Amino acid sequence: MREWEKNFRKIEPYVPGEQPKLKDMIKLNTNENPYPPAPGVVEAMEHFDVDKLRLYPDDKSDNLVQALAEYYHVKKEQVFVGVGSDDVLGMAFLSFFNSEKPILFPDITYSFYEVWANLYKIPFETQPLDEAFRIHKEDYYKPNGGVVIANPNAPTGIAEDLDFIEDIVKHNQDSVVIVDEAYVDFGTRSALSLVDKYENLLVVQTFSKSRSMAGLRIGFCIGNEKLIKVITDVKYSYNSYTMNQTSLYLGVEAVKNEEYFRTNLAKIMEERTRTIDELTKLGFTCTDSKTNFVFATHKDVPAKELLAMLREKHIFVRNFGSNPRIANYLRITIGTREQMDTLFAAIREYLQQ
Ligand SMILES: *Cc1c(COP(=O)(O)O)cnc(C)c1O
Repeated sequence: MREWEKNFRKIEPYVPGEQPKLKDMIKLNTNENPYPPAPGVVEAMEHFDVDKLRLYPDDKSDNLVQALAEYYHVKKEQVFVGVGSDDVLGMAFLSFFNSEKPILFPDITYSFYEVWANLYKIPFETQPLDEAFRIHKEDYYKPNGGVVIANPNAPTGIAEDLDFIEDIVKHNQDSVVIVDEAYVDFGTRSALSLVDKYENLLVVQTFSKSRSMAGLRIGFCIGNEKLIKVITDVKYSYNSYTMNQTSLYLGVEAVKNEEYFRTNLAKIMEERTRTIDELTKLGFTCTDSKTNFVFATHKDVPAKELLAMLREKHIFVRNFGSNPRIANYLRITIGTREQMDTLFAAIREYLQQ
């Protein structure tokens, strides 16, 4: 090894879900929304002034921040936006977790948390979920450098109620508690109602799943003004212009059409119930998902075998093989009714052979 190679940062990266380029596929592997973005977004896109691309975007993301502040009834100074919630979360880890004590998060959760902790050399300690994949809240009542909870959790899909989250925040007033609400719109009560009560709470959300805009990369967090000031300073120490012109322009439209938003969410939640029923009939056990995916294991057929079989048919689902506790589970995004019917038929046919 050359001398300069010894100075390389060694990191085990996060592995995102595959983005295959097939035309005829059914893509249920990265929790994208099967429905198009709001009609206002589509229309605004047609009127986008391309000349804007000559200019740097608004470093303050003022219009988008304003739209979110109004939508969630908070002050502009309580909102921070980023390039997807991954950007916001990464920035939050860098901003708030500078203690020598370990940060705490579950052993089964969004696997990016561990990657950021390693990247920024933040000590961490994972807390095991119980047999039913539930968080044991008392595990988080000990000295720590920060707490991160995804609610609903991923990839289990299981949500905890607001009192449960509040207990964790209440017991951790000496550290920042991040609640990652990537899937909150699919039927969970948000912790946003607690941000004015607890200065140490940061709630992170995204446009990627519930607002059908994964391709645009918009995420945001809401918290106390002190937290937002710090994360903003960190952003300006890293990249002033994170949000591009198109995201800033179209993002504002995405929060305008409440009826379209609610209708799509209802369709996905209804399809989730039907999916759990159908998969149960086919011999799967599913968690009680409150997200736009189900988390399922089959009584006889290994997850990897099903994954490969579906892949042959160009139906993509996800498996997290590196964690032995969940290696035999499939995470299946809720698609349209037609897509799910194709999935059920493929599984049914395979089981009958
Ligand atoms: C999808 C997801 C994210 C990141 O989403 P972005 O597309 O970066 O906004 C963050 N946390 C969890 C738990 C997710 O599932």
